[in-house]
Amino acid sequence: MSTGDPGARRGTSASGGIVHLVGAGPGDPGLLTVRAVELIAAADVILYDRLIPSEALAGARHDAEIVYVGKQGEGPQFPQDDTHRLLLEHARAGRRVVRLKGGDPFVFGRGGEEALVLHEAGIPFEVVPGVTAGVAAPAYAGIPVTHREVASGVAFVTGHEDPSKPDSALDWPALAAFPGTLVFYMGVRALPRIAEQLIAGGRPADEPVAVVERGTLPTQRTLLATLGDVGERARAAAVRAPAITLVGPVAALREQLAWLESRPLFGRTVAVTRARAQASALAQRLRALGATVVEAPTIRIEPIPASKPELTAYDLVAVTSPNGAERLLELLRDARELAGITVAAIGPGTARALRERGVEPDVVPERAVAEGLVEALRDVPITRALIARAAEGRDVLPDALREHGAEVDVLALYETVAEPLDAATREAAARADYLLFTSASSVRFYAHAAGDGALTGPRLLSIGPATSAELREHGAEPDLEADPHTPDGLVEALLRDAAER
Ligand code: SAH
Repeated sequence: MSTGDPGARRGTSASGGIVHLVGAGPGDPGLLTVRAVELIAAADVILYDRLIPSEALAGARHDAEIVYVGKQGEGPQFPQDDTHRLLLEHARAGRRVVRLKGGDPFVFGRGGEEALVLHEAGIPFEVVPGVTAGVAAPAYAGIPVTHREVASGVAFVTGHEDPSKPDSALDWPALAAFPGTLVFYMGVRALPRIAEQLIAGGRPADEPVAVVERGTLPTQRTLLATLGDVGERARAAAVRAPAITLVGPVAALREQLAWLESRPLFGRTVAVTRARAQASALAQRLRALGATVVEAPTIRIEPIPASKPELTAYDLVAVTSPNGAERLLELLRDARELAGITVAAIGPGTARALRERGVEPDVVPERAVAEGLVEALRDVPITRALIARAAEGRDVLPDALREHGAEVDVLALYETVAEPLDAATREAAARADYLLFTSASSVRFYAHAAGDGALTGPRLLSIGPATSAELREHGAEPDLEADPHTPDGLVEALLRDAAER
């Protein structure tokens, strides 16, 4: 990304300049449209507002020019005329411009004004509708804006202006008489006066009102009140923009339909220190349970060059991790190489990784640790064993197999190396409610990257005894240890703990 001279030409499209007025949705990055993502990825220039999902720009070209042109309550304002000027300048220079706005560009987004400027200048433009906050924030709070026999219409209204001013552009008596749901944007400060005007216009003081703050974001907060008390209650709860205020009987449906806020991990922040390649499945599960996930990978898996092992000499091949399974089968290239050999896997993830590559493990110990495997093999005679694993694995398994009378070779297939943590991720992880460790090496590298002090704030969740021991090495006592010692066990432990506090 760069914010260089807007006159500099880069990556212009052959067909000349065009402006896409694109809605980025209300905040949840999952509510970006496919078209929005496509255009962001192709844009030469992106002019964006404050209320767009922070992830929306992640897919931009690294050489795209990304310019903030937002306005913020009473904060810094980027003058609208300057936005118009930039749109024209970039488009005339032949660039593909994405004008990215929160929600929908034509709903209180000044997208209409910008389209008119482009039309007058003869510049081609395209409008990409977005999911508007006035529908999405209520939906995420469990409120349908229309509902059979309860609300057969919905009005989108700006709450920006002061309704008690005599020159208010809004016809308050008409709004009060509107037979349906009223959805106010930008109305937080004027809330008490909006409620007064509606009651004065004849709406009942006990009519339900919902105020949805930061709708669709993990920090979403909803206040369910009535027209009579919403002003006072919003003040007491310190409701802040951005928020949608919805007036109408449909608001009460949230008592049954608040699907998001009733998820077991809603409102909890969980930092995952796993290697990025493996973190996503866990992160996705935690998000589905309502958690805000901070991905703070402190380790990365680096393959170690190895040649294909001569397997005929072995009667046991033990694989201790999914990475080991993946690398081993890469080396063998053909699962039949393992025919006739006892294959043991530690952990269900390792077993799954083997199965995905056409190998059904013969032994998967109940306890997903090296000791569990040794136990499981007690009655199996082994003369020569190969252990496929990380370079820095523990000696428990080779030692125990040797004690068992076997000759043991260790095949180091990969190593875990440190992944640097940027300051923002480090801070976010330190502020999390939970810090998850799925291996001893992730503890070691996290402590190294963030300092032992970083282990003091959040509750510490360890996947098993080796990881817990490593935490103690760093002076930290794990608050929870998963049992079974698997990602599933970790999620279960987290759910139990969250339910209790
Ligand atoms: N074009 C946008 C609206 C811009 S006006 C859209 O279609 O959604 C800005 C107002 O939108 C805010 O003051 C607030 O009322 C509302 N808003 C935007 N994002 C919101 C969110 N995540 N939760 C609640 N309200 C939001």
